[in-house]
Amino acid sequence: MDFNLSKEQTMIRKMVRDFAEEVIKPRTIEIDTEAKFPLDIFKQMGELGLLGIPFPETYGGSGGDTLSYAIAVEEIGRICGSTGLSYAAAVSLGASPIYYFGTEEQKEKFLVPLAQGKALGAFGLTEPNAGSDAGGTKTTATEDGDDYVINGEKCFITNASFAETLIVTAVTGKNEKGRNIISAIIVPTNTEGVTITSNYDKMGVRGSDTAQIVLENVRVPKANLLGDPQKGFSQFLYTLDGGRISIAALGLGIAQASLEKALHYAKERKQFGKTISNFQAIQFKLADMAMEVELARNMVYKAAWLKDNDMPFTKESAYAKLFATETAFRAANQAIQIHGGYGYMREYEVERYLRDAKLLEIGEGTSEVQRLVIARQLGC
Ligand SMILES: Cc1cc2nc3c(=O)[nH]c(=O)nc-3n(C[C@H](O)[C@H](O)[C@H](O)COP(=O)(O)OP(=O)(O)OC[C@H]3O[C@@H](n4cnc5c(N)ncnc54)[C@H](O)[C@@H]3O)c2cc1C
Repeated sequence: MDFNLSKEQTMIRKMVRDFAEEVIKPRTIEIDTEAKFPLDIFKQMGELGLLGIPFPETYGGSGGDTLSYAIAVEEIGRICGSTGLSYAAAVSLGASPIYYFGTEEQKEKFLVPLAQGKALGAFGLTEPNAGSDAGGTKTTATEDGDDYVINGEKCFITNASFAETLIVTAVTGKNEKGRNIISAIIVPTNTEGVTITSNYDKMGVRGSDTAQIVLENVRVPKANLLGDPQKGFSQFLYTLDGGRISIAALGLGIAQASLEKALHYAKERKQFGKTISNFQAIQFKLADMAMEVELARNMVYKAAWLKDNDMPFTKESAYAKLFATETAFRAANQAIQIHGGYGYMREYEVERYLRDAKLLEIGEGTSEVQRLVIARQLGC
């Protein structure tokens, strides 16, 4: 076994860390308090090639691997959960399905601008009455000549207000057992009948855009159907497996940040004539946080490595997502505790880590759904 990162992976970590420290860090408090999507930061990330890390250069990408991409999400998440979530959603959900399942024409037309960071993508699966149970999708896409006509509603969709391209899931027919066939269709956001509103007032990841989408008689060419229409459901399960690695990486970044902030504070803060890092109660918290961060990193990198080596990774990406996101929540909570009353104040940032981390236990499959995925993989 080789736990060393390659030269390219090490370079990507340094490049993204420098960018996050220099460009994103001065803006994180404003991004959170003003709940403002940092479009200008995304433009710069596009210019650096970050939006295209896991895609080949022929499609406008940087030709990196999943592990490099996970490291990039981790480094951005270490500084800003909102930017990290929008980044992970843009790459894993907005662009990756086109790379995995798209035709050459779809890749040329839609993936290239996304990978180059000249456009932003979003993925609309969730509906008001179909969350964990994606099979309950009510949005329909009806064939009409050479087009699909789409009607329905999507909720909680990351990046949609700023996206040029949406991938929406919709019922396109019934299979031989009478069950709904759910397919994924590419919908440019400027198509007539698409209404996107972003009125959610969120607890955390406040600078990440979250929108509601209403689709009313939206007409797109049949050529916009993504992949095999009969395999729509298994295609988006594969997409979600990949996306879980990036949400896990984001959790890892927040957990790492919580550990660093708590350790730094514990070494500075004095009570009873000593720095609080001298107290065993504080040392044990820090030791547990450090151990869990290390475990989470091993799980995230292993899941990415399996994917890069074309090996099954469904169970490992669920392990990584479940453990790293719950680690992020625990670590942020302990970081607040170690900061005492100051930790409760926005200025010290650890309370933001907790609010941002909470979303990661919900999005891209809740913690309960991850346990279901793992149990199914165990043969239950
Ligand atoms: C900020 C944000 C960004 C998001 N971004 C996107 C996006 O870009 N694209 C997208 O499509 N969606 C997105 N979502 C939606 C997200 O994926 C869903 O909220 C999530 O999958 C849960 O669905 P739900 O909210 O309907 O909860 P429900 O499915 O109603 O779940 C409610 C509770 O019941 C539990 N539960 C449900 N079913 C079971 C079961 N079988 N066994 C045990 N427990 C169960 C859940 O774990 C949860 O605790 C986003 C959500 C948020 C908040």
